[in-house]
Amino acid sequence: MGAELRVFESRDPSGRTINYLRLSVTDRCNLRCGYCVPPGGVEWAARHHHLTDDEILRVVGVAARRGLSKIRVTGGEPLVRPGIVELVARLARVPGVTDLAMTTNGLLLARHAEALRRAGLHRVNVSLDTMDRDRFLRITGRDALRDVLAGIEAAERAGLAPVKLNMVVQRGVNDDECVAMARLTLDRPFHVRFIEYMPVADFESWRARHMSNSEVQALIDRELGPLRPVARGGHDGPAVVYRVDGAAGRLGFISAISDEQFCGRCNRVRLTADGQLRSCLFSSGELDLRGALRSGCGDDALHELFERALAAKPFAHDLAEAPQAQMLVTMIGIGG
Ligand code: SAM
Repeated sequence: MGAELRVFESRDPSGRTINYLRLSVTDRCNLRCGYCVPPGGVEWAARHHHLTDDEILRVVGVAARRGLSKIRVTGGEPLVRPGIVELVARLARVPGVTDLAMTTNGLLLARHAEALRRAGLHRVNVSLDTMDRDRFLRITGRDALRDVLAGIEAAERAGLAPVKLNMVVQRGVNDDECVAMARLTLDRPFHVRFIEYMPVADFESWRARHMSNSEVQALIDRELGPLRPVARGGHDGPAVVYRVDGAAGRLGFISAISDEQFCGRCNRVRLTADGQLRSCLFSSGELDLRGALRSGCGDDALHELFERALAAKPFAHDLAEAPQAQMLVTMIGIGG
């Protein structure tokens, strides 16, 4: 008989319960969205620096014991990692992991949705900034909207529910589609989430294109409102959630820049594909789990690194005050 798993709660110095690990399994991606990949491209981590499946499993085992029971597999694009379905199956079996989700651009989802569901994945978030084919090509660098839409359908059929659709709103690029995206929730149980553009890859375009979610919400409210607030659920994360009267789905607003309460609700830490533990997307502090793992450390040492990461977790990012300083980070590199 196996020993009973002892799980304890993790808290940071600000008293926030940390129960969520965003796990980047690769920094590679099959799209080139301008707000995520800097204009000059990114320097990929050497492949041998990516954590192996066994190394990831060890870290997640320790995290789960520390009460980080929600795992989101992300990247880069997680579905380009070779053997991703097998990795998901192993993650789903880690004692203490109660919620296993993935964020994907959806390109390869039609191919994998059913197998991922069978492997134990619970839910997917799919990035979808536009429903216009040419615009999709301009935003992502690839003529692949049809594949993404097929991926979304496949995810729904497979029961990876609720399917959340993430739209990064950019003024003058896709802001005229906010209402149409919100309409998708009227008949189908999608959760459409509007994500404020953060200054992480291209500062000049950010300045011109950033649009606050209060503006987005007002646009939707005018056309489809009044929007009804929905009580926050366990899977809403930092989103503030509403519903159009009578709609099947929901609308979420993720306002990292304009919502002063945003960081107060943060419950997460991040592990980069090359094994660095970050307690905040926008703080440069990283703890080197890969080095520890490869020097043969025991689980005690991994616990200690988690302790140190939590102890260093800042109460809030300073994106609004010092956005240019944040250009050193990229979502693709850290894991969005
Ligand atoms: N490749 C996957 C995908 O496209 O969903 C997962 C990784 S991606 C970095 C995760 C999320 O980060 C996506 O929803 C993407 O839109 C978002 N993201 C990337 N750069 C961003 C930025 N500058 N501001 C806001 N969201 C961003």
